[in-house]
Amino acid sequence: MTDYSHLLSPITIGSTTLRNRVVMGSMHTGLEDHFWDLPKLSAYFAERAKGGVGLIVTGAHAPNLAGAMWPFGSTKTDRMNGILRGALWPFGSSMTNGLQSFRHRTITEAVHNHDGRILLQLLHSGRYGYTPKNVSASAIKSPINPFTPHALSTRAVDWTVTDFAKAARLAQKAGYDGVEIMGAEGYLINQFLAARTNQRTDKWGGSPQQRMRFPVEIIRRIREYVGKDFIVQYRISLLDLVENGQNWEETVELAKRLEEAGVDVFNTAIGWHEARVPTIITQVPRGAWVDNTARLRPELGVPIIASNRINTPELANQIIATGQADMVSMARPLLADPEFVNKAATGRADQINICIACNQGCLDHAFAKQRSTCLVNPRAGYETELILGPTRTKKRIAVVGAGPAGLSAAVSAAERGLHVTLFEKSNELGGQFRLAMQVPGKEDFKDTLKYYARRLEVLGVTVRLNTEATGADLAEFDDVIISTGVAPHVPPIEGFDHPKAVSYPDVLNGSVIPGRKVAVIGAGGIGVDVSIFLTHSEETLEEWKAHWGVGDPRIDRGGLTEPKARTPEREVWLLQRKTTPIGNGPGKTSGWAHRAHLKQSGVHLVNGVQYDRIDDAGLHITVDGESRVLDVDHVVICAGQRSVRDLYETLDTAGRRGLHLIGGANVAAELDAKHAIRQGTEVAAAL
Ligand code: NAP
Ligand code: SF4
Repeated sequence: MTDYSHLLSPITIGSTTLRNRVVMGSMHTGLEDHFWDLPKLSAYFAERAKGGVGLIVTGAHAPNLAGAMWPFGSTKTDRMNGILRGALWPFGSSMTNGLQSFRHRTITEAVHNHDGRILLQLLHSGRYGYTPKNVSASAIKSPINPFTPHALSTRAVDWTVTDFAKAARLAQKAGYDGVEIMGAEGYLINQFLAARTNQRTDKWGGSPQQRMRFPVEIIRRIREYVGKDFIVQYRISLLDLVENGQNWEETVELAKRLEEAGVDVFNTAIGWHEARVPTIITQVPRGAWVDNTARLRPELGVPIIASNRINTPELANQIIATGQADMVSMARPLLADPEFVNKAATGRADQINICIACNQGCLDHAFAKQRSTCLVNPRAGYETELILGPTRTKKRIAVVGAGPAGLSAAVSAAERGLHVTLFEKSNELGGQFRLAMQVPGKEDFKDTLKYYARRLEVLGVTVRLNTEATGADLAEFDDVIISTGVAPHVPPIEGFDHPKAVSYPDVLNGSVIPGRKVAVIGAGGIGVDVSIFLTHSEETLEEWKAHWGVGDPRIDRGGLTEPKARTPEREVWLLQRKTTPIGNGPGKTSGWAHRAHLKQSGVHLVNGVQYDRIDDAGLHITVDGESRVLDVDHVVICAGQRSVRDLYETLDTAGRRGLHLIGGANVAAELDAKHAIRQGTEVAAAL
């Protein structure tokens, strides 16, 4: 049994003792935005508190309101100047009145019932507010929001400070153990701190010290309003990763002044949302940013929390054991597995469902204003709706196909107490996931397969590898779940059977090693992944940072430096027939990074392509009416998939009862692991 004693040891923050050093960081779920969803939000937090986490931070709540859709004014201050708008979007979550505070008691009580502690996060969106009436330090538009902000007047800045303090007091009345002030990721407080966004000439702008006045005053006033026995946590930006951000000297000075003003504990963050360096997605190496936390720690007299790309108890424990931080924040890993802490504490760390940092169920949903959930745990955010309750029926269940859909169905059904047999034609579990994990930057996907393999073992599921199930094999089962997955679609291109033409599974599983020049047909998620696979070479953490232009904040302002050019392994052409920009498919929070990676690797992106033929000369194409030949060694076909459902059709035709079809076998187009795993869980819940 691995020892996680550093991570699991108690710690005192201000006057509050936490049972361990695991923080569930803030994640906006979308359930915060409507009071009628608060019972669902309470259940979501309660499950994590029950799972043993020491401290929870809620999603973002504005200290004053969004205005564009708010016809009659709102708070007193809003009516006075009409522009104090802090919410992320009109009617976004806020903490501005007694009724809201009263309603939040359901959350705090749910967490306290399981001996957890919880902070309300206060976040003023500033120029990231999705409303034409958003505000900032200066009227400078963000590159990621179409709306130019209004500059707050000198008096309005002061009112905003008071609004933070009032919101903190409302949080206290709601029973929260404290507040986290979001001072990072490019939101309003950052906008005051950086010369990039603060060009004011009043007392809130000018020198770095004057720019620091805003957060320092917020903390000082919060303390006045809430007294000393209430946790005040401040999320500080260690690296802004934008031009004209703060430098290290300023960050240290800010932290010291905030501590003096009343901060009990610092949480940390990396990068503004508009930064063009990925900070948390799968391709960011684990623990990539901890060196910055470790550098700030000796400057402080209060605890500091490490965050970003920490997703295993081993790494979290090591960070504390080596003195790099006092606590570790893991937001997404606690979505992926609410039992993370209890499993680590009871020798079951090998059964933790690890967050693979894909963002597909959580942040991509949050930014699309959908309810956040989790690709590997579809119950996240749906605790009261997707219930895997125990069942007394003695049904025997067969699951055919061990890709993400089948694995999820088998494990979920077994968790309910059903007797499950899993059939898999090949000699290993994983299906398309096994291919995805070969892609550089998607190595974490291996952990999902490890998790499923271990859960199958623990739950006593009979696994029959190398077995192509037949109707006769399945006759004895009460229910049969068909999850036979997909096969690559072979497009009708002349010469598709030429030796130069290869399928993406053969490339990713290593059966074919492509030559130095490669064309990729199809620029969906898989075409992009394959292009990265073909061009990428191994890199250390230092090389990764150099390729993305991450510098040393003591030398480079904002932690940004000139990116170092990559040396791609191959010359690759990524092609599609559509005329839309290439690589727009993958999620909002990661797609831009994939596109940037392709650019860094010199991949030629060509859209509006007509495929003419493949022959010894290479791939013949026509673009804009002009024919040309790509003189390539191989052509990798990534032109989508078709469902494999022969078995389903045979059984269905034979009138087999209790038959279910899920995953890619059900619908191949647009299918991804998020839908597959969700379908697997849902079918098991309904058995
Ligand atoms: P996809 O996203 O549907 O892309 C298939 C590509 O093939 C399209 O770009 C299409 O572009 C092209 N195509 C289709 N029919 C063709 C034909 N007859 N001839 C030539 N080209 C053709 O499918 P995928 O890339 O296989 O991905 C499968 C699923 O996995 C998707 O749902 C995807 O979102 C998911 N996935 C996600 C990620 C991620 O990082 N989030 C990564 C991998 C996969 P044109 O028609 O314009 O040529
Ligand atoms: Fe992690 Fe992906 Fe789940 Fe988000 S959706 S919590 S990134 S595994």
